[in-house]
Amino acid sequence: MTAKLDEKLVPIYQDVLHRNPGEKEFHQAVHEVLETLGPVLVKYPEFADKKIIQRICEPERQIIFRVPWQDDQGEIHINRAFRVEFNSALGPYKGGMRFHPSVYLGIIKFLGFEQIFKNALTGLPIGGGKGGSDFDPKGRSDDEIMRFCQSLMTELYRHLGEYTDVPAGDIGVGGREIGYMFGQYKRITNRYESGVFTGKGLDWGGSRARTEATGYGTVFFTHEMLKARGDSLDGKTVVVSGSGNVATYAIEKCHELGAKVIACSDSQGIIVDEKGIDLKALKQIKEIERRRISAYTEIHKDAKYVEGGNIWSVPCDVALPCATQNELNASDAKTLVENGCIAVAEGANMPTTPEGILLFQDAKICYGPGKAANAGGVATSALEMQQNASRDSWTFDYTQKRLEEIMIDIHKNCYETAAEFGSEGNYVLGANVNGFLRVAKAMTAMGVI
Ligand code: NAP
Repeated sequence: MTAKLDEKLVPIYQDVLHRNPGEKEFHQAVHEVLETLGPVLVKYPEFADKKIIQRICEPERQIIFRVPWQDDQGEIHINRAFRVEFNSALGPYKGGMRFHPSVYLGIIKFLGFEQIFKNALTGLPIGGGKGGSDFDPKGRSDDEIMRFCQSLMTELYRHLGEYTDVPAGDIGVGGREIGYMFGQYKRITNRYESGVFTGKGLDWGGSRARTEATGYGTVFFTHEMLKARGDSLDGKTVVVSGSGNVATYAIEKCHELGAKVIACSDSQGIIVDEKGIDLKALKQIKEIERRRISAYTEIHKDAKYVEGGNIWSVPCDVALPCATQNELNASDAKTLVENGCIAVAEGANMPTTPEGILLFQDAKICYGPGKAANAGGVATSALEMQQNASRDSWTFDYTQKRLEEIMIDIHKNCYETAAEFGSEGNYVLGANVNGFLRVAKAMTAMGVI
């Protein structure tokens, strides 16, 4: 069950299926955008004439390469890595690197495609791209991670540059991995080009508030959606999936705004702590010790750990999926709505299945898609590039203020665009159309390239 496409868009979608066989996440991401573009072609027929949608659906460049590396025992491993440079109409390609065994071209293309519209929504001069590898960092030593990152960068460096393509982190890629990749880039190129990576350490060109930005931004966006309905986050009960970078800082900001997060998860189980998740304990376990979330009950004996549990079965006012794609299906959406959930905002990329989205929309709860709700991460990456270009370093408070203003603007633009196209409150349409229009206008101005 997915929404229908306008008849002009059906052949475009068929062509995407034909040209990209087997890439089901990419098909899903394209379908979700095309579902909302029907009214745009009525208002702007020139975009059909110029084949803007067909051009946006085809990446400008796709790089696939081998990454050989040796483990601590001397055994050789071979991984595959990708960088998809999707669209540079608004600026250099910008988007994270993901290290996870599930990575293949279809995942990187779905993420790169979404990134085009997300980056456009921020209003900042960044194009869309994404990369990653099927390398699994779990259980690997620091030295093994370093050797893998160095091998990957020995190929990738030639495609990057502060005005060309600027990677950052994503699942499995945090400060440690960015450090190793940046170090190898610097060594090979003999250039200290700070702006070639974002998410760097604070001592060597990173931006304050970048680590926190995606999670914080998701919560700022949630707060704006509730405000638009005369409500707020204060006093709300929240459930957050995941316990990585995005989840951790979403929890932190929820608590700062007076909400209580009672559950979070990892890929093996869920933690429910009715007193509110203890963030200090969570950071100790996940960021410092790099252990499973089940260790939380060693510190909080009265919290409950459920191996293989479903986090969406925990009753809440607000749900923030912050783990991975398609982690929230129709049955989960139904449970959330029946349990009285009033708002869902996506810290993760495409975490809700198309059927789940329809259920949220039918129930008329606030639903903020990832493209809009998690754009705070890449927006703060663009602020990091700005600081690097001017050899400047802003305070945490100033950077966070900029992030909050950007999230308020994104919310306003999505809200107003949805209303302009006759779908008030539909943030999916608002985000897709607002992002699309910015990219389409730039592409039109630049001719057939
Ligand atoms: P992360 O730090 O690596 O954390 C990922 C979290 O999600 C972990 O708790 C992980 O559990 C869980 N997870 C990952 N794959 C899973 C799977 N297949 N099934 C169930 N749980 C899974 O990554 P992150 O940076 O927080 O990214 C989380 C999401 O946010 C992703 O969708 C990413 O694309 C999106 N995002 C990130 C940023 C950013 O700035 N980092 C920006 C925008 C969007 P395990 O540890 O057990 O694997």
